[in-house]
Amino acid sequence: MTLPSLDTDRLVEDLTNLLNIPSPTGYTGQAIDWLEHRLAEFPHLRLSRTRKGALVAVWQGQSNEASRALTAHVDTLGAMVKEIKPNGRLKLTKIGGFAWNTVEGEGCRVFASTGEPVRGALLLAKASGHVHGSQVNEARRDDDAMEVRLDARTASADETRALGIQVGDFVAFDPRVEVRDGFVRSRHLDDKACVACLLAALRALHAAGLQPTRTTTFHFSNYEEVGHGAASGFPPDLAELVTVDMAAVGEGQASDEFHATLCVKDSGGPYHHGLSQRLRALAEEHAIPYKVDIYPHYGSDGEAYWRAGGDVAVALIGPGVDASHNYERTHLEALEATTNWVLAYLLS
Ligand SMILES: [Zn+2]
Repeated sequence: MTLPSLDTDRLVEDLTNLLNIPSPTGYTGQAIDWLEHRLAEFPHLRLSRTRKGALVAVWQGQSNEASRALTAHVDTLGAMVKEIKPNGRLKLTKIGGFAWNTVEGEGCRVFASTGEPVRGALLLAKASGHVHGSQVNEARRDDDAMEVRLDARTASADETRALGIQVGDFVAFDPRVEVRDGFVRSRHLDDKACVACLLAALRALHAAGLQPTRTTTFHFSNYEEVGHGAASGFPPDLAELVTVDMAAVGEGQASDEFHATLCVKDSGGPYHHGLSQRLRALAEEHAIPYKVDIYPHYGSDGEAYWRAGGDVAVALIGPGVDASHNYERTHLEALEATTNWVLAYLLS
């Protein structure tokens, strides 16, 4: 059986649009709304939201036996205002696991709870080389050393509060999306790349007039980066969950930006061997470029469901992403491989 053809241009368009919607964990409403509008194009999907705010789409399959699910997350790394400093600048607290140096110098948006979003940049507080000399290089980048400089006239906490900014406001770092020669360079490809792959798979099946073999739940989670995204939101009779999330690329890793990867073990231990083997066989059957890998510092939403008591087989596939939780990059070949793998699974 040949897989239905992909609309790669549309995949890139969807991905770019989604990347440009800020969605730090806890502030994902706009991204979920956008996705719901895209999925509403497919009349055979039954859409709902969990109370936690995840988006769930169910596609009735040819069979209701041993129902399946795929999950990918729309939430990303980000931050929250921790304190308004006496100089009017903001001290932040991180949302998700990343190092401050990965966003140092990045533009950002502060979602003022009582007004318009305010632009700014995340900087080392001792940022100027002409003022602080070697300290700019030597300072340890921790919560106290970093601050947001707002693009607004403020030099005091009161003036910043007058902008509508308060403790607890969400902060999103600019993704800086650029697509060139097949490469996609952006923050937050984790995991918006995989959300776009799932959407592309849905489009391809729909355009070809096909239906999944088994009834399938498409679960778009919104709390993955803090560890409990897909802990809920699945039907009670679920038999299998394929997590679609980025593959870790770097020294010692088998993954790269031109393949999809089957992850067989990460920080949470081994994935389900039987389901992993079936996915491997599907990749072989359909000549999908893939790698098998182990991620040393990584947890997934599939494991979140396991920890919450989900009694299902769980596996993990996804495109290779270089410099993850940093200024990331992948390639269209990895996105196509991931989407084809999802299609092969849905039609198997
Ligand atoms: Zn992820």
